[in-house]
Amino acid sequence: MTPATAKPLAPIPAREEDRLATLQRYELLDTPAEAAFDQITRLAAKLLKVPVALISLVDRDRQWFKSRVGLPVQETPREHAFCAHALDSDALLVVGDARQDERFADNPLVTGDPNIRFYAGAPLRTADGLALGTICVIDDQPRPALTPEEEEALRDLSAMTMAHIEARRAVGYLHPVTSLSNRFRFLADADALADDPATVPETAVVIDAAASQQYAELTRVLGQVCADAFEIDCARRIAACLPDHTRLYHLSPARFAFILLSGGDGDLADTLDRVSSAIRSPFQYQGVPIATSAGIGFVHRSDIAEESVELLRAATSAAHQSLETQKPWCAYDEEQDRAAHRAFLLLRSLTEAMDGQDQLHMAYQPKVDLRTDRCIGAEALLRWTHPELGPISPAEFVPLAERTALVRPLTEWVIGAVLTQVAHWHRRGIALPVSINISMLDLGSGDFADRVEALLDRHDVQADWIDFEVTESALMTDRAEVDRQLRSLRRLGIAVEIDDFGTGQSALSYLKDIPATAVKIDQRFIRSIADERSDQIMVRSTIDLAHDLGYLVIAEGVETDEAYDWLRLHGCDFGQGYLISRPLAPAAFEDWLAAGAFRPAAMPV
Ligand code: C2E
Ligand code: MG
Ligand code: MG
Repeated sequence: MTPATAKPLAPIPAREEDRLATLQRYELLDTPAEAAFDQITRLAAKLLKVPVALISLVDRDRQWFKSRVGLPVQETPREHAFCAHALDSDALLVVGDARQDERFADNPLVTGDPNIRFYAGAPLRTADGLALGTICVIDDQPRPALTPEEEEALRDLSAMTMAHIEARRAVGYLHPVTSLSNRFRFLADADALADDPATVPETAVVIDAAASQQYAELTRVLGQVCADAFEIDCARRIAACLPDHTRLYHLSPARFAFILLSGGDGDLADTLDRVSSAIRSPFQYQGVPIATSAGIGFVHRSDIAEESVELLRAATSAAHQSLETQKPWCAYDEEQDRAAHRAFLLLRSLTEAMDGQDQLHMAYQPKVDLRTDRCIGAEALLRWTHPELGPISPAEFVPLAERTALVRPLTEWVIGAVLTQVAHWHRRGIALPVSINISMLDLGSGDFADRVEALLDRHDVQADWIDFEVTESALMTDRAEVDRQLRSLRRLGIAVEIDDFGTGQSALSYLKDIPATAVKIDQRFIRSIADERSDQIMVRSTIDLAHDLGYLVIAEGVETDEAYDWLRLHGCDFGQGYLISRPLAPAAFEDWLAAGAFRPAAMPV
């Protein structure tokens, strides 16, 4: 018997890499069976009176059957595939008796199951002349050549199969809601334009007709039918603004795109202005006006050397920029994009940091009583050393986490770390309350106080060993829930400070309602307090107001002896800042405490 390696292999077809790439693009491989293909193979078996009929796609190392009659296996190695021999010519491949054909005599499909004796296959060729595979019929009995009628039938079945493959692909290029061309079509068209030396460098435009949050809300509150109607209406309005023969694409929920081929920047600006005002007027759904915020971004092909996916990503990033800044439209800006990219990278690696042991740490910054100069507690501040980017400030990554679902596990991590430290310090006789920073978004979650209570139990920590610092976040919408959670925390016996006071949007009314114990005046008012008259007025009145409402007052950002003295003189209760100490690692904090109570140099001891 001929050893397997000596077996004559099928010739590799011309333009093989193109052929394989095209086969991938048709998205047929490894897809479920489809009735239309199965009807064709059944018809083939019947017309040619054979037990086995297949639609075989010849992949790099295998043939995979999109449809099969009479064969139990879904694929075979390419080296065994008869069909691999049928790709290079338009003629049918007919093997009357495989045992007599030196190409196939020792093929395992001939010598073993399914015991092929007779084979006839017709290539499935695209309009570009690339053969994806074959439609073939097989018998376990040898046969003389096909009759002319049978040959014709096999050719017709091959044409039918190809027609169905093409039709299926066309449908795969349409968005089901608007019937506009979809993202795949956009990328294919952009590729084709880039390859065509005759076209002027084009401009890709992406339109977000609503922020993703708004679209999700629309779907949730008014239902998918309304969301679909919204998209159809957007498509109609945008299409009405485009130059003739410009194709509009529907990429994803509420996201559209088009490619502008010619015209100077003036034409572009006119088109974008028209689109912008068209999508910004409220959409009416059953008499209800629904306003969304929209974003439009564009990028010139000449600015993006890379592939079309990158072109699309850049235009999408510009649209995002327009949404964020509320500008009618934005050009792609590499720098902004880099910042967004870094934000994405940080968010992605933050999860890993929370799971690991060595990237996140807490630092502790002392708070002192301005009358006695004694340490009365510490603020826990999160530190992140990224394995590649180095130390990342919480002022950078905390606001990012607040824009995603990550803020909740992050806060949980911080509370866990602080409670462990506080329990440890109490066991060693260091009984100072430690403040934990939380976001308003944490308080919106509905079960925050319950989770804190469970964590206190788990770490065996008493409620008055910690307190929380809360900043007003512009993102917070559910004030009632926040108040409920704060009241529950206070009932547990946990103090609450309002952080960064003076920077929020509604500081005064906020102060009246919020169930807090202390107000922490933001450092921007404190840093130059000794010299800036306007800061002095602000801080003095805040101290008085807060005291009148029953709150303690703490100043953050105390950097100079003069500031310290001024605050003490004006009745501020506590201070925190670089003058007293920078945030310290736990061991360094213990050393600082052991060194004795803090006294500013300017004070007589
Ligand atoms: P914050 O809560 O207002 O914390 C005070 C910030 O001011 C800290 O910056 C601290 O290191 C810094 N600071 C303290 N004294 C001085 C001073 O005298 N001069 C100056 N210029 N700065 C001083 P840090 O640690 O970079 O934290 C920045 C912000 O990040 C915090 O502001 C807080 O909003 C947030 N953050 C930090 N840790 C956490 C955390 O564990 N959870 C949450 N949710 N947010 C955190
Ligand atoms: Mg704070
Ligand atoms: Mg602060």
